Amino acid sequence: MSADTNATASGDALLDLVRPDLRGFGGYRSARSEALQGDVWLNANESAWSNPADADGACRRYPDPQPAALVDALARLYGVDADTLVIGRGSDEAIDLIVRALCVPGRDAVLATPPVFGMYAVSARLQGARYVEVSLVEDDASFAIDPEAIVAAARAQSAKVVFLCSPSNPTGRAIPVERIETIASALRGRALVVVDEAYAEFADGEGALRLRARHRNLAVLRTLSKAHGLAAARIGCAIVDPALARVLRACQAPYPLPAPCIALALEALAPPALERTRERVAVVRDERERLRAALAAHPGVRRVYGSDANFLLVRFDDAQRAFDALLAAGVVVRDQRAAPRLGDALRITIGTPQQNERVLSALAALRQVAA
Ligand SMILES: *Cc1c(COP(=O)(O)O)cnc(C)c1O
Repeated sequence: MSADTNATASGDALLDLVRPDLRGFGGYRSARSEALQGDVWLNANESAWSNPADADGACRRYPDPQPAALVDALARLYGVDADTLVIGRGSDEAIDLIVRALCVPGRDAVLATPPVFGMYAVSARLQGARYVEVSLVEDDASFAIDPEAIVAAARAQSAKVVFLCSPSNPTGRAIPVERIETIASALRGRALVVVDEAYAEFADGEGALRLRARHRNLAVLRTLSKAHGLAAARIGCAIVDPALARVLRACQAPYPLPAPCIALALEALAPPALERTRERVAVVRDERERLRAALAAHPGVRRVYGSDANFLLVRFDDAQRAFDALLAAGVVVRDQRAAPRLGDALRITIGTPQQNERVLSALAALRQVAA
């Protein structure tokens, strides 16, 4: 690639956000990307025999990089066009791909809103991109983003990527879509606004997906790791403008989706499993409210934040004692005390009704000692 390419704008405001040195980059052309037909495949140095551990031979050959059946199933699930999907190893890979494709090391910045999910900062650091923080603001009821401050900081510090987490981890609340739209409008041509919706299934409303029709600089991340119960299968996706999707696919590892994971995901997206998933999401939502009310009534609890996700953020008078009491009862929760402004907080994932009972009884013991 010549140095000249670096200076050329693509003539497309969205693609101009891509690193100049990656414009026109096709990525690795794997044996699987050639549209050839035949019945004896000797083009990829695969073994002619299956491994004894792989009885039906499903893993003998390299997998399709973006298998059409899975692309179609996810497109149907999210109600989006197939060419907008980039499927990868969890939404964590999508975060990393976006930062790598857009941010010039040592020049561009990534913006996020702490306290928030830690991977945005990790990806920025690995890419050598500055990490710009615009804190959430806390009112009586919850943490919320400050759209004006986000837009101002993104402009002033030339952020190429703005991460909005909705519902937010660990603070729990979804961002109203109008606020997301305000930010996407204000940063058109300047930044890609990425809405990480890892917990969207647990929230009311349809999230940011439908905003994409009006805002090409809006990306949405979804995953099968949380509501769908497939964290170990590592299947997540970015839903982006088709032209940007082609860029991200070119930046991806050659065969990002292992065949056993593709098979699992397809089964999880078939109607019987989807029906069970929806039932379980309903259980989580009911349990979330039950646990929230019970914790709010606990004398050692300072505050329980409202949640649109599958966890609760809880402030304690003595978070260490609460953490220890839970651990002594065999219940492991997430200690949030190192996060900014969460020095007294634990994040408790909603479990089965029985597991949530264990949480409450462990904390009831704490109340007796306190009394
Ligand atoms: C859990 C989580 C993810 C990671 O999802 P994977 O698809 O498993 O990589 C992404 N974003 C947020 C906010 C999360 O909490």
